[in-house]
Amino acid sequence: MERLNTIERDAVASAAAYPMLPLVEDWAAINSGTRNLAGLATMADRLAEHFGSLPGKLTMVEPEPVERIGRDGSPAPLAHGRHLLLSVRPNAPRRMLFTGHMDTVYPVDHPFQTVTRLDDNRLGGPGVADMKGGLAVLLSALTAVEASPAAERFGYDVLINSDEETGSASSAALIAKSASGKVAALTYEPALPDGTLAGARGGTGNFTIVVRGRSAHAGRNPEEGRNAIVAAARITLELSQLAADDITVNPARIDGGGPNNVVPDLAVLHVNFRPRALAAIERTGAAMKAIAERIAAEHDVSVEVHGSFNRPPKPIDTGAAALFETVRSAGADLGLSIGWRATGGVCDGNNIAAAGVPVVDTMGVRGGAIHSADEYMLIDSLPERAGLSTLTILRIIGAA
Ligand SMILES: [Zn+2]
Repeated sequence: MERLNTIERDAVASAAAYPMLPLVEDWAAINSGTRNLAGLATMADRLAEHFGSLPGKLTMVEPEPVERIGRDGSPAPLAHGRHLLLSVRPNAPRRMLFTGHMDTVYPVDHPFQTVTRLDDNRLGGPGVADMKGGLAVLLSALTAVEASPAAERFGYDVLINSDEETGSASSAALIAKSASGKVAALTYEPALPDGTLAGARGGTGNFTIVVRGRSAHAGRNPEEGRNAIVAAARITLELSQLAADDITVNPARIDGGGPNNVVPDLAVLHVNFRPRALAAIERTGAAMKAIAERIAAEHDVSVEVHGSFNRPPKPIDTGAAALFETVRSAGADLGLSIGWRATGGVCDGNNIAAAGVPVVDTMGVRGGAIHSADEYMLIDSLPERAGLSTLTILRIIGAA
């Protein structure tokens, strides 16, 4: 640690000493699946209690209204939990954004609900790695930085949303707004068990295409019917042909239809795209619109396209490369070897990058088997990653 100055050394030591493990055990025992609004409210209270010990103004932000297209093809409101926003020294010249999510992928009736010590260094439990461990790391790092004389030099927002695992539909605008004007962002998704971070990320887009035809008797007057399933099937085939080097297409589900003797008047097609480049988004969006219009005309049906490319791809541009270098070098000074590699997974880091702010989005704990009943966190990564975050923040705010 001789490459650290006194302020850095003290802050890193104080972050590493913060009692994070009991917090993770407590938080992971609270079910906060994205659809469990009561659990999210409890989780938000717990987080407000702890993050409220930092200076600044803490608010619970109402979710943006979100609609989901049901099996009947009609939109219905989809409720979300509130998002925690802490704003500290908003008038400081250098400001950062820290983000995390309080929701998990485990619904309230999922069998995986308890936190278990798997061995000396592994804690199993829902959300321990993704990302209640990361939230504890963030809390300890910010607490340590606040106790250091460097804190006055910077301002920041902490945004902990409640809908990251389902695509951040009710918090996307808040993420973009919070990213605005920040010099850098850190997000607390888990690193791989060996400490490798996520570098470039692909993007994602989810669409629901509602095809409405006209029903008729399959035997008596089929010529008067307009078969929505056939039209949806053609759309499906044509969309699947939009796959290219820079985008994949997955038609995932078709709902609709009915008895054999009725020409079906409704089909609802769900499709996911994974763009690897911004150009793929524009091209595919335009092609999808053209396909919808053409099939609607050819089949005399109505076709509505709902959805968006909710997470654009996150390339490593110059700003992101510089931020990765800051993290790598802070790691090296702490005796950690920090590497990163591209992933097909998406997270709020995609949205932050799309807002033009450099982000490293896997500053959380080391852990594995996330989104499964085997999810675990490596306990020794709590102090390690808290120290890494602390030093990274100090280096960013210390930079001219
Ligand atoms: Zn996550």
